[in-house]
Amino acid sequence: MYEVLRQIKAGVGGGIIKLGERHVCRFCGNTDPRRFRQRAHTFPEALGNHWVISRDECDDCNAKFSKYEDALVKAVGIILTVGGEKGKGHSSRRQTGRTGSASTVRHLRDADGNRRISTRLRGDGSSVRLAWQRDVLTIRHSVAPEKFVPRYAYKALTKMAYALLPDEELANYGQTRTWLLDVNDSEDFPVLEVALSFTLLGNAPPLAVGTLLRRSDPLAPIPHILFLLSIGSLCFQIDLRSDHLEDHLPPIPIGQTVEGWRIGCATNSGPQPEPYVLTYSKPSILNWSSKTLRLQPVEELLFHKSMRTTAAEFKLVMRDEPWLEDSGDDADVPG
Ligand SMILES: [Zn+2]
Repeated sequence: MYEVLRQIKAGVGGGIIKLGERHVCRFCGNTDPRRFRQRAHTFPEALGNHWVISRDECDDCNAKFSKYEDALVKAVGIILTVGGEKGKGHSSRRQTGRTGSASTVRHLRDADGNRRISTRLRGDGSSVRLAWQRDVLTIRHSVAPEKFVPRYAYKALTKMAYALLPDEELANYGQTRTWLLDVNDSEDFPVLEVALSFTLLGNAPPLAVGTLLRRSDPLAPIPHILFLLSIGSLCFQIDLRSDHLEDHLPPIPIGQTVEGWRIGCATNSGPQPEPYVLTYSKPSILNWSSKTLRLQPVEELLFHKSMRTTAAEFKLVMRDEPWLEDSGDDADVPG
């Protein structure tokens, strides 16, 4: 249903990738070379993009968009901490699953006779609980209630998608461009849908991949373009609605997401990089239309470890999004 329109892939071991025409802002049209002094990262540096920059994003737009990027980084901050990108040294990571000296520890036995150890950390709004079930240790780490403006975060993703559009598509996205430049827009969107998935939590791959997928059949009842950003252990997806190419679709998004998204990459910058494939989890669908502060989407981090097999896994527990009940859940892998 979709084919790759453009893909920018960068990571450790690759060089800097420069996008766009130098000193011509694709967002506001600015052509004054003195307004292109900053290095504009196409994808947020704080999410782990050290490689892809836009030569066609002026300093004014860069300053404006930093508000959007800050919101996006806040929204996924806790995942970054677990994913290993935020904070370079091991010591600066949050100590997920460890109990501090100020914590309370209680030994409990539940109705089924399972032993339970409960600990609580006070101070930052998060807590850690440990539980044994047969031979599996589960650590539940509630997340401090950090807030972000969802619409800004959504605009950060839209800006990245717009930055990747080939010239032939720009004319289809005039309204998107205007909307991006209007920081406090008054558009009324009931839903701005973001699909969030992840891979290798706890061991984030050093890469940043932006992909535009375009529907192969213009008459298909699906959005014209999808944008996927795979960065560190995260993958975001949005549909990029054009000015008029979705006029035959219902106005509310239809849950058009790609499941089983895979990125082929090399593991390291050494002399013999080993190729491997990253596979992303089933996406969680979020609504980022709100213009006011909301809690970030992850409610809890779960860490399971089997003492018998020593297998371990991270899981994210997302907050309830009641609006989702009426929306579809189509899944189409490009091809
Ligand atoms: Zn500009």
